[in-house]
Amino acid sequence: MKNFPLKLACLLSAFSLANITFPVLAEQQPFAIAIHGGAGAISQSKMTPEKRKRYESKLSEAVNAGYQLLAQGKSSQQAVIAAIQVLEQSPLFNAGKGAVYTFDGTHELDASIMNGKTLNAGAVSGVKTVKSPIALAEQVMEKSVHVMLSGEGAEQFAKRQGMAMVDNSYFDTDARYRSLLRAKKKLIEKEQELKDFQAAHQLLDTEYKVGTVGAVALDKQGNLSAGTSTGGMTAKRFGRIGDAPIIGAGTYANNASCAVSATGHGEYFIRYHVAADICARVQYQKLSLNEAADQVINQVLVKAGGSGGVIAIDPKGNIAMPFNSKGMYRASKSSNGQTSIGIFHHE
Ligand code: ASP
Repeated sequence: MKNFPLKLACLLSAFSLANITFPVLAEQQPFAIAIHGGAGAISQSKMTPEKRKRYESKLSEAVNAGYQLLAQGKSSQQAVIAAIQVLEQSPLFNAGKGAVYTFDGTHELDASIMNGKTLNAGAVSGVKTVKSPIALAEQVMEKSVHVMLSGEGAEQFAKRQGMAMVDNSYFDTDARYRSLLRAKKKLIEKEQELKDFQAAHQLLDTEYKVGTVGAVALDKQGNLSAGTSTGGMTAKRFGRIGDAPIIGAGTYANNASCAVSATGHGEYFIRYHVAADICARVQYQKLSLNEAADQVINQVLVKAGGSGGVIAIDPKGNIAMPFNSKGMYRASKSSNGQTSIGIFHHE
């Protein structure tokens, strides 16, 4: 009995020590998010201070939407969806509202998501009336037995899931329409001259072939996720699908290596399997995330002639965001206090 107060003190101090230790340990797990608004950044000469401010404030809103969820202990998947939805709802970016037009003057949207813990993935391609393609991709991942749904079937599934549906004109913006008219004029002129639509398309400027949004995140539980959403390529035809909904090309996540979301000339990203290639280099060649992303974007793709970039994150919270195009809209925020938001140019 004599020792009781001592025992009690020991117990209490062990308890309070435990109380202090757990939150400290929990805080040590880094978390971070990176987002992109496409590799089709406006050239510096056309960028006014007002435009720059509008882009930067939307990028900041998106990265913060995801970061806040991560800080609250929510999953990387939730953070990726939240960040992408901010960009889908903005007319500034080529995804959701503000998506580019097809050759026939409509919008066909692609999106995908992958969870790096479970390696589950969901994707949709060529959807016309689903307000948030990234939310539908998540439904495909979680509520269907498939990985990718396309066109009308994907829309039937969206209705069954009770998703928000809109008229295709919801995605209209004047700026994208003017861009379609310019692209079509060039395409038609070149097609007449060359007598070949494919060759004419090859000659179309890169600005018509790039623009997308995406996010990658690492949560407090140490899990990675990646997602991408796009209207694809201006004046696309014949049901063209790019890399954004293709798991391994435009989107990939694996806790064993990294999470990647791509933006760029999709035909190259599909053939070079860009997102998965970066993660494979991290996993099997033991390259750092920076080295792996740099090799694929600035060596492999440059050699092939593929324009674009990626955002990538690894399980330690390292972030790489290389691009070989003229510019890229990007933002990132980490629990280590590092933040970067802006329109990055090589010009
Ligand atoms: N990768 C997209 C596509 O080819 C476009 C982009 O990301 O810039 O559809």
